[in-house]
Amino acid sequence: MTLQVEFERVDLPLADTFTISRGSQDVAENVVVRVRDDAADDGDDAVVGVGAAAPSRHYGETAATVEAVLSDLEAAIADVDPFQTRRIEAECERAVHDNPAARAAVSIAVHDLVAKRLGVPLYRSLGLDPSTAPDTSFTIGLDSVDRVREKAAAAADAGYGTLKVKVGTDRDRAVVDAVREGAPDATLRVDANEAWTPKEAVRKAEWLADAGVEFVEQPVPATDPEGLRYVYERSPLPIAVDESCVVPSDVPQIADRADIVTCKLMKCGGVQAARDLFAAARANGLETMLGCMVESNAAISAGAHLAPLCDHVDLDGSLLLADDPYDGPVREGGAIAFADDQPGTGAVER
Ligand SMILES: [Mg+2]
Repeated sequence: MTLQVEFERVDLPLADTFTISRGSQDVAENVVVRVRDDAADDGDDAVVGVGAAAPSRHYGETAATVEAVLSDLEAAIADVDPFQTRRIEAECERAVHDNPAARAAVSIAVHDLVAKRLGVPLYRSLGLDPSTAPDTSFTIGLDSVDRVREKAAAAADAGYGTLKVKVGTDRDRAVVDAVREGAPDATLRVDANEAWTPKEAVRKAEWLADAGVEFVEQPVPATDPEGLRYVYERSPLPIAVDESCVVPSDVPQIADRADIVTCKLMKCGGVQAARDLFAAARANGLETMLGCMVESNAAISAGAHLAPLCDHVDLDGSLLLADDPYDGPVREGGAIAFADDQPGTGAVER
């Protein structure tokens, strides 16, 4: 059996400009990746697994860098048994260490292919119970206070019970108050994307706790681990880390200064790496959250099957798109719902 990798760049317009403390985006550059096995020798039809890369400039990747390494990844896995998914990820990492989104796309496509070959949904081939998947939160990006209030109300009307509010400006209190006004019954969490100083983070965590917020994500820069510890030791709210924890080996270094680890397939490089990261988090007594970039269901669908491993799920990237060419298990309103008769990740072209 030989594996072939095909890819196609897709520029996906967002429903609304998405702004976080670091900047704005109107388009998500994704690269859809298809891995085809060549089972024709057995008299079988070939099976095609689908995945996608959602590269992040913050981690040094673009659609162009993804496209540039996919032929190396194809060469690395061409003769590997796709059922050996851990070896697939190891060969990819050996071939192109610094391109986790490109590797994640291949890993997702191979996992989709294998589950399709087995004729089962991906969660089943991973041994997971789909009924324990938490709903995803929905993200409210930075915007004017009036727009934030409107977006929060619209999200609550659409059925989202948990909103993640992007913060990291001098208007943080007004923004959180506006979200609360727009969605009075929603659970709120905030993500500062590294924007605060340690002292500012502690001060803000105090009034955020009074406002009933659930936890604070990435209050300070990942380059300031001592600042993170300062915040953790003084914050009345639990601290989640995202930018501070990228791969499984980062977990022990943040375990004494965070409560929740955010895993993204595009940071850690694949489905098996994500499982390792979750296991490391659990072993260190931390809670787990699965996040995503702004990405198509071609990518997010794989994450949805890992949701049963998570305490918190933030898989709304496809819900922020104007028009995702793929459908998947993450539903409008936040539920993650799998079709029992749909093998693979459930990412299907619309
Ligand atoms: Mg984050």
